[in-house]
Amino acid sequence: MNNSELNNRVVARGKEFFSTISGEKPSLFNKGAWMGKVMDWSMKNETFKIQMFRFVDVFPSLTTGKLLTDHIREYFGEEKDMPPVLSTGAKVAGMLGSFGGAVLNKFLTTNIQEMARQFIVGENTKEAIKNMERLRKDGFAFVVDVLGEATLSEKEADIYMNTYLELLDSLKKEYKDWKPLPGRGGDGSLDWGHAPKVNVAVKPTALFCLANPQDFEGSVVAILERVRKIAEKVMDLNGFLCIDMESYRHKDIIIEVYKRLKLEYPAYPHFGLVLQAYLVDTDKDLPELLSWAREKKVQISLRLVKGAYWDYETVKAKQNDWKVPVWTIKAESDAAYERQARMILENSDICHFACASHNIRTISAVMEMAKELNVPDERYEFQVLYGMAEPVRKGILKVAGRIRLYCPYGDMVPGMGYLVRRLLENTANESFLRQSFAEDAQIERLLEDPALTAERERAARAAKQKAEAKGPGNLPPFNNEAMVDFTRADHRAAFPETIAEVRKQLGKTYPLFINGKEVKTGDTIPSVNPNKPSETVGIVCQAGTKEVGDAIAAAKGAFPAWRDTDIKVRAEYLVKAAAVARRRIFELSAWQVLEIGKQWDQAYADVCEAIDFLEYYAREMITLGSPKRIGHAPGELNHYFYEPKGVAAVISPWNFPLAISMGMVSAAIVAGNCVVFKPSGLTSVIGYHIVELFREVGLPEGVFNYTPGRGSVMGDYLVDSPDISLIAFTGSMEVGLRIIERAAKVYPGQENVKKIVCEMGGKNAIIIDDDADLDEAVPHVLYSAFGFQGQKCSACSRVIVLDAVYDKFVERLVSMAQATLVGSSEDPAHYMGAVADDKAMKTIKEYAEIGKKEGHVLYESKVPSDGGYYVPMTIIGGIKPEHRIAQEEIFGPVLAVMRAKDFDQAIAWANSTKFALTGGVFSRSPEHLAQARKEFRVGNLYLNRNNTGALVGRQPFGGSKMSGVGTKAGGHDYLLHFMDPRVVTENTMRRGFAPVEEDDDWVA
Ligand SMILES: Cc1cc2nc3c(=O)[nH]c(=O)nc-3n(C[C@H](O)[C@H](O)[C@H](O)COP(=O)(O)OP(=O)(O)OC[C@H]3O[C@@H](n4cnc5c(N)ncnc54)[C@H](O)[C@@H]3O)c2cc1C
Repeated sequence: MNNSELNNRVVARGKEFFSTISGEKPSLFNKGAWMGKVMDWSMKNETFKIQMFRFVDVFPSLTTGKLLTDHIREYFGEEKDMPPVLSTGAKVAGMLGSFGGAVLNKFLTTNIQEMARQFIVGENTKEAIKNMERLRKDGFAFVVDVLGEATLSEKEADIYMNTYLELLDSLKKEYKDWKPLPGRGGDGSLDWGHAPKVNVAVKPTALFCLANPQDFEGSVVAILERVRKIAEKVMDLNGFLCIDMESYRHKDIIIEVYKRLKLEYPAYPHFGLVLQAYLVDTDKDLPELLSWAREKKVQISLRLVKGAYWDYETVKAKQNDWKVPVWTIKAESDAAYERQARMILENSDICHFACASHNIRTISAVMEMAKELNVPDERYEFQVLYGMAEPVRKGILKVAGRIRLYCPYGDMVPGMGYLVRRLLENTANESFLRQSFAEDAQIERLLEDPALTAERERAARAAKQKAEAKGPGNLPPFNNEAMVDFTRADHRAAFPETIAEVRKQLGKTYPLFINGKEVKTGDTIPSVNPNKPSETVGIVCQAGTKEVGDAIAAAKGAFPAWRDTDIKVRAEYLVKAAAVARRRIFELSAWQVLEIGKQWDQAYADVCEAIDFLEYYAREMITLGSPKRIGHAPGELNHYFYEPKGVAAVISPWNFPLAISMGMVSAAIVAGNCVVFKPSGLTSVIGYHIVELFREVGLPEGVFNYTPGRGSVMGDYLVDSPDISLIAFTGSMEVGLRIIERAAKVYPGQENVKKIVCEMGGKNAIIIDDDADLDEAVPHVLYSAFGFQGQKCSACSRVIVLDAVYDKFVERLVSMAQATLVGSSEDPAHYMGAVADDKAMKTIKEYAEIGKKEGHVLYESKVPSDGGYYVPMTIIGGIKPEHRIAQEEIFGPVLAVMRAKDFDQAIAWANSTKFALTGGVFSRSPEHLAQARKEFRVGNLYLNRNNTGALVGRQPFGGSKMSGVGTKAGGHDYLLHFMDPRVVTENTMRRGFAPVEEDDDWVA
């Protein structure tokens, strides 16, 4: 049969389908009921939709009448301003008026719970089984799924697994008594003559809380361990187990889990996997899986869905500058579905097929293809979600005689997350159900061949494509460097390979670099691997005062020519250096893993940030570079422009050894200053890479000089030098303040008042509000506090939790911490590695001891005893604002937990230190978020996310109070600190004649 013939049959079948259900509507769109009204209003009013769905999301956390009333007011306004679906509904029910808020509370609670019940088959096992039995009586098979909160700990993973085991035990008692659903012959004890009566679906990431593609093997093994236990029970019932597919990040892990499970039980036919047609990868994954099954001689089963996370996938990819993994035209997903369904049906001898869709075109296509290919009934079935598309499921039952409903069950908290996903799915403009049943779109259009629709829409999109935008100096507009993508096997493999390569280069001696020449000195210090201090990363020559003096002289000598170099040429050096760093990105990351103990992702992010600074400041300088006319009086020209200050000393820390160093160095250089760079003694080998980058691009001699050295020998000499005009420093408050003090003194011969760009410490707090989403808050706090061992000035070191959620939050935080491992950062299974050096180790341990006296230990991890500089992950409760560990910067993995009585107190405590760098708030109260914006006084405030990882250009970084002098690295005004503004005014009037400038305020 050719394509158009087949398409004609599909369209005819679709039309017939529509006619059999004519006049019926899914209950979702029934405007006679409250839910239908909400859906209707949401589709007409985007603002209401956002507020309503967000309210549904927060609803299970609103455990008191006051919380509920406050949130209703915050989300929907006062009663008089409320949309009719809320106020009229309540009024009709005779509930408003004298009772006020409490009545509205009840009205909303009842209706939202009712709405959730639409999609959830029960709140507990008993109720779920009872309702599924009822569905069976109506002719519907089921696949049951346990709803769970995000799994954050081993304990939660066990609870999730045990719920399945108990569910299976309960089903075991019941299922034999169920009358099999009718079919054509086959095994009389099975549904339809061939299908197990018990069918369960599991979400694999709920079985391991740290599932993460960076630790691919560890994730597969851990998930498989629990899946296996469920699978064994399923086999005991001769049931069916389907492994659901989740976000793209975990796709390859899930496929691998499925394959390993299949190979453990090769003869068992009833293990299924889900593939998502909206993923571009599926065109490759599907044939690979089918070939694998043939090669291994195993029977597989695939449920094909379009995919439930389209918005999430596109947003995440855009945020990280990754290739969007999903099709971006709806018809492309539909066409992919039909293409892939055909491939599965063509392989029906080895692959059982579950067609999961509510789309009548998709279902009709599968029916017609199966017919054309003579696929026996027992090799394919249809599935829809419980609570959705009732007319469609009825239609399928009538035509195919077999349909399975996907039935989630569980309690309200996870239930609401599921409900929101379904509401979003059904109100999306692209939804087939919405178009068919809420908008009555033309049937012809709904049944059109999606391959043709996709082609037409692609052409229309190409015609609309705008010319590529240009940034300053005709460079492409600034875009953050893409983050490492561990879903890619090549990125995962790159780390061990490059670390092994870099390891071969360890132990070399690194010279100074002054005036374009390498300079060796007799004084050297080794730089070691903190995870393995016996391993010397490099031996670094140390500058004494003579060498620093030479470097300053070289910089001073190079300055006039560099100052007068065309700004675009200066910027080009940065862009070229960025290209070199990009080419070497894995290698530069590997050096960080070995020299300072960064985890793979942390190391890569540091190199990305260095590249971002180069690219960003290059463009910023081009923008700032041309003189701007100010004032418009005729006969007068005023030009405002900038000049560099002279010689800049750049003193950088070890914690972002390439990023922060490169940020300060590149800002100084592109602004026209010449630099004497002192890296940290702990990361001088990484510092030397800046020499290599600038050498490769041919930066003129003397513009950049590299002088690692002992602070005690050359630090003051550098700061005090009369030839230094600017000091850019990032590091501790003590050193920063000392530099500021010393730099204030003017020495003989000094021509400039020294400008200080100074970033210092933090004592950053995250507030957990009483309505916070703990599924989000817990992992973000853990990451903010313990990512890179808490050695970031932005790291969270205090978490201030509102009394109402304190116990639950702490319990989940500690349980998640317990699941993590401490060990060498080379191994991606380790959440935390060693701290910077033995000194840091000692100081942090001392603070942990202080904390133990001030409060009580909630968690202290084990650490390896292999000689690495390890410090336990430490969480201390019972901390008050006056305690030392609530006030002093520790710079390590010690987290103070504080219990606040309300949000006002939490904000007051958050502001109660001398620092003001970063802060965070997890809250779903619009009023509290607004209050935090205003009153939580820090340089970088993060709402509902982690409080580290600021991106150049997107989150310019820097604080005030004792955290810094108010500069923002990676922001528009950063370069201004590296330059002096000048104004030149010319009187253009000569003997009464003044030329007219275009923008003169001339007499009209
Ligand atoms: C039994 C069953 C089990 C399921 N299990 C899973 C699972 O394990 N994992 C999972 O992810 N989902 C799962 N789902 C959910 C499923 O992904 C959605 O219900 C499904 O995508 C809706 O598709 P449709 O054909 O019913 O509707 P349609 O309205 O035809 O399609 C909607 C879908 O099109 C896609 N889409 C929307 N906009 C665009 C766009 N602009 N460009 C490209 N594509 C777009 C999205 O996938 C969206 O969900 C399951 C569904 C069922 C019925």
